[in-house]
Amino acid sequence: MNLQVGTNLTQKDEQFLWHAMKAYNPDATMIIEKAEGSWLTDINGKRYLDAMSGLWCVNVGYGNQEIANAAYEQLLKNNYTPLSMSHPSAILLAEKISEMLGDDYVVFFSNSGSEANETAFKIARQYFQQKGEYSRYKIVSRYRAYHGNTMGALAATGQAERKYKYEPLAPGFLHVKAPDQYRFPEESGDNPLELSSVKAIDEVMTWEYSDTIAAMIVEPIITGGGVIMPPDDYLQGVQQVCQKHGALLIVDEVICGFGRTGKAFGHQNYGVKPDIVTMAKGLTSAYMPLSATAVRREIYEAFMSNGQYDFFRHVNTFGGSPAACAVALKNLEIMERENLFNRSVEMGAVLLKELEGKLGAHPNVGNIRGKGLLIGIELVADRNTKEPLDVAAVNDIIAHCKNNGLIVGKNGVTVAGYNNVLTLSPPLNISLEEKDLIVSKLTEAIEAQ
Ligand code: PMP
Repeated sequence: MNLQVGTNLTQKDEQFLWHAMKAYNPDATMIIEKAEGSWLTDINGKRYLDAMSGLWCVNVGYGNQEIANAAYEQLLKNNYTPLSMSHPSAILLAEKISEMLGDDYVVFFSNSGSEANETAFKIARQYFQQKGEYSRYKIVSRYRAYHGNTMGALAATGQAERKYKYEPLAPGFLHVKAPDQYRFPEESGDNPLELSSVKAIDEVMTWEYSDTIAAMIVEPIITGGGVIMPPDDYLQGVQQVCQKHGALLIVDEVICGFGRTGKAFGHQNYGVKPDIVTMAKGLTSAYMPLSATAVRREIYEAFMSNGQYDFFRHVNTFGGSPAACAVALKNLEIMERENLFNRSVEMGAVLLKELEGKLGAHPNVGNIRGKGLLIGIELVADRNTKEPLDVAAVNDIIAHCKNNGLIVGKNGVTVAGYNNVLTLSPPLNISLEEKDLIVSKLTEAIEAQ
């Protein structure tokens, strides 16, 4: 079927389709017809190099035939089994995720990152009920982090501009400051508990009373808040504080997982063992919606006592559907076969170095940072005061890139005046030529400022 015959897609798009952030989003008029590798083609035939992999998610690139075949074959064989029963691709994928986590985890499937986090919060709360620690329900998270759009995941989010029009959100969520090595450098010496961003967590858990805290949720590196790098030992400090207060550590790997930072999971860069790990996006490289919440076996076992009210009363119709799991398995097989996690480390290091070489001294570039193929470029009006570059100027740079066929992201937190970080999160298998194009087009756009 040729959808364009006799149609005016641009006009119908305007009339019928509610884009995320329509009216605000400068991409709203991009109607993409085709995508291959790292490239998008719109209905007018214009091509764009997608240096964001969609929303940080198409980790193996677009148009992968093997993954499409895996979906097709699974759909023909068995398109649906609820996970009140079971099916082979869910079983094998759960085993694979547990293996990748390098420890004994049990996996619950959902459809989106938000749901994976909601699931984690419900598991954490019920876990303490099962253990008889009835007063523990509070979840601690960080300002500047994003954890999803549903009422609990949004409550955990630390970006007021996304929240205030929908409040009251789910109760019981507290926020602490996140580390920021560019704006507020911290030195821990030998002891991560000395970091002021770790002390902030300890203080909140103490003042709120340890016995009321169920969990803390963190991303290994804050992504949507502007690729904010923590001190190397920060996560270890977070884990120690959680242990001190008897709280669970939930790590949100929705973006940092599956090679984005060069490891299977971002937290593996920092030597911690979370109690719960949530994941989505790169799990299927966005070929199908799928997310997962992996929990340490001990947590799972607290739900296995066979009491009438003891099981996890949490079901979703589509979570862990056979085709989504088959797609994820094929996606992970490709990542392994093509050594994409190492490629992310190597290509990320080259990209970071070249960006630093071209842009590091530019008066509007305050800081270039990242890990693997997750990179942020913080734009400032003044390198000494670090005053953020005006959002209109940031938008101009993005528009310049787009006109020139390059998609880059813009992230940060508007209410804090920090909506000034250009982000890069390209497919893990970008070629050297594509890497060169990202550097040259971005440099040109920033120099045109
Ligand atoms: N956590 C993080 C860190 C995310 O970046 C996102 C989405 N960008 C989510 C959770 C929510 O995922 P979803 O949009 O799939 O619900």
